[in-house]
Amino acid sequence: MTARRAVIIATGGTIAMKYDEEKQGLVPACTGEDLARAVPGLGEVADLEFIQITNIASCGMTPEIMWRLHEEVDRVLARSDVSGVVITHGTDTVEETAYFLDLVHSSEKPVVLTAAMRGAGDTSPDGPMNILCAVKAAVSDETRGMGVMVCLNEILHAAADVMKTHAANPATFESPWWGPVGYVDCDRVVIRRKPICVKRIRPEALGARVDIVKAMTGSGREYIDFAVSQGCAGIVVEGFGRGNIPPGMVPGIADAVGRGVRVVIVSRTLAGRVLDVYGYPGSVTDTLRAGVVMGGELSAAKARIKLLLALSDNPSIGREDLQSLFD
Ligand code: ASP
Repeated sequence: MTARRAVIIATGGTIAMKYDEEKQGLVPACTGEDLARAVPGLGEVADLEFIQITNIASCGMTPEIMWRLHEEVDRVLARSDVSGVVITHGTDTVEETAYFLDLVHSSEKPVVLTAAMRGAGDTSPDGPMNILCAVKAAVSDETRGMGVMVCLNEILHAAADVMKTHAANPATFESPWWGPVGYVDCDRVVIRRKPICVKRIRPEALGARVDIVKAMTGSGREYIDFAVSQGCAGIVVEGFGRGNIPPGMVPGIADAVGRGVRVVIVSRTLAGRVLDVYGYPGSVTDTLRAGVVMGGELSAAKARIKLLLALSDNPSIGREDLQSLFD
């Protein structure tokens, strides 16, 4: 049988970092190829190719780099000799890049993002095992049609659900309330559920600015007004509970919507849908009257990615069409 082929696209992250005396901390030090070559047995799992897109900490990730990744992924997956793609990334924002790539994904072949919480030179680094598992998942028949996943700690998470939940522990990634989609065992990849209802959005280019405004107790309209003044085409407002916000924010939202800015409300809770169950000032019933769209179960970071892609695809998308994208 011909060996399976995977392409590893490296972007940086702690997985590729080592301690630097002069800088007094971990800094990018290894390429994707360096990392893969140091994983025992990886060559028996698949033939590998490498693309180094960046070598940055993922706090420096941008929608523009995500777009470049998307173009590389499309190009690579169109090749008949490639079974899947692995992307190495920092853990801080991997859930955003994964969600971006999942929304624009158009192949039956999988993309698996992986990362590490410990640097490449640390005692017992988690990177090598994570890369091994990610490559196994990327070339497995089991993951065809699964879209974009994140794999750390032998566990596979759907891009839409995964979240970094701990600042330091290697078991940081969870899919709150729904759980992982599967795991990578020694002998095979086990899939326990498949993502459903993924609404894909494939703009021709990125062309919108979307910012997040977080509700605080006592918030007024200032940050909404600021986002509008900066030229945002969309704003994601992260509210409380069912999506309720301080009443003082509502006039700013109504004015923003009146100026054609799309406003999506999400919740700072880890799970559950935004909904108009209350009737008081600042409730979702109130903000719906002001013209918002309900962001469903998405985190603010992921809703921002979705709104960015939706507005890039169609800058004048109607409120109902946008709502159906978030439902
Ligand atoms: N700060 C790092 C990053 O996201 C964290 C990591 O990779 O674990 O690049």
